[in-house]
Amino acid sequence: MNVKLTDRAKWRGEVTVVPAFAGPFKGRVAGGIPLKGLKIGETEGETTTVRSGTREAVLVSLGKRKDCTQDTFRRAGGIIATWLAQRKIRRAGVDLASAETSRDDGAVTALGEGLVLGAFRFAEHKPSAKAAPRARVDLLVDQPVPTSLDRLERAVAACEATNLAREVAHQPPNVLNPISLAERAKELAAANGLKCTVLDEKQMRQLGMGAVLAVGGGSDTPPRLIVLEYEGAKGGKPLALVGKAITFDTGGYSIKTRESIVGMKYDKCGGAAVLGVMQAVATLKPNMPVVGVIAAAENMVSGAAYRPDDIITTLSGKTVEIVSADAEGRMVLCDALTYTQQQYKPRAIIDLATLTGGVLIALGRHRAGLFCNDDKLRDALVASGERTHERLWALPLDNDYLEALKGDDADLKNSAGREGHAILGAMFLKQFVDGRTPWGHLDIAGVADVDKDQPYCPKGATGFGVRLLADFIDHTCE
Ligand code: MN
Ligand code: ZN
Repeated sequence: MNVKLTDRAKWRGEVTVVPAFAGPFKGRVAGGIPLKGLKIGETEGETTTVRSGTREAVLVSLGKRKDCTQDTFRRAGGIIATWLAQRKIRRAGVDLASAETSRDDGAVTALGEGLVLGAFRFAEHKPSAKAAPRARVDLLVDQPVPTSLDRLERAVAACEATNLAREVAHQPPNVLNPISLAERAKELAAANGLKCTVLDEKQMRQLGMGAVLAVGGGSDTPPRLIVLEYEGAKGGKPLALVGKAITFDTGGYSIKTRESIVGMKYDKCGGAAVLGVMQAVATLKPNMPVVGVIAAAENMVSGAAYRPDDIITTLSGKTVEIVSADAEGRMVLCDALTYTQQQYKPRAIIDLATLTGGVLIALGRHRAGLFCNDDKLRDALVASGERTHERLWALPLDNDYLEALKGDDADLKNSAGREGHAILGAMFLKQFVDGRTPWGHLDIAGVADVDKDQPYCPKGATGFGVRLLADFIDHTCE
């Protein structure tokens, strides 16, 4: 989807889409078609089509004006993108005048975001679904619009990076494994002027990354630690982003049920989001350096797989007694966090992981869990979440929770039952973070994928975290 800003006075296209609030339609004409006396329905997305010769105007309800937020426009963009794709329309204008938003920067940008996000489809392995050609949408605005173009272009770049993260997350585990993910990262780096380093299993063994190796040990495809670096004009300590990429999670010897194992390709969504953010960073060019670290492994069952009761020595030197082979995310992340601090001395670390089912019980599917050891970082992440509608909710990291994670025969155990499960996952990670480094952990297990179509996200991976962190980086650099 290509989205452009166009002076509405100059628009001559055949299809004009008109988002409008419920009630009597206030505008008079759109795309040259008279539209007086129409009534807009209250149901969001409801359409009314008016034809005149070969031209048509399509009114799309934004719902009630009093319920309107910026996300209303994002949803409208998504609904319009789906509508255009279903009708195979390749060129359309969207007239914002009647919603009195054509001068509102935020609404125009959100609409553009919804269009790009809503156009995402994963049809690569579906020969029956012929790929639709890229549509072009002109956002019709009144001139002059001094700042929207830059803001829109930056928002669109973050949305395209989100779609990349979605695409990677959607890839099936027989196509995308730790090795092919590392190849994708190298290609992305080469195309975007980033540096990419990949540690293979031999290098990890030399370094002592016992936790990543333990998790990946059961798979015929060995694990990889993937590092992407963006330099930034200013130099200095980088912001580090760390992502969990379990390309398939069987649960290992703590094997999942036949129901809960389906969809476990989405256990790589944290890593896919880091890949997406790094693409966005390469386009948006913030002045500070950013490093993205992806811990990639496949959690399988075999004679070489790690087992409950194993004691694993992590890169930090701390030992971990395995209670659950299905609590593998914190294992790969603990080594990735240690490695990131050793190598880069980052100014701050943010990790993203589909870490626990517990966060889904605590917060449902509308907010990700945020765990943070620094008030300023927490506030900034929460604010980015509200702006991008990738919303977060802060959960505690009190040391009282730590008692449950003490190992019997090792420093720590990797699982401590169901109570406070999301918090204990975060507390485990906290043991591997230097307390002086601001650190935020995003448990995205509830928000990384959706089980039915949403206005600007079809069923499947959401790419959650890419727009959030692109916004965070943008605001941190100001
Ligand atoms: Mn697991
Ligand atoms: Zn997992």
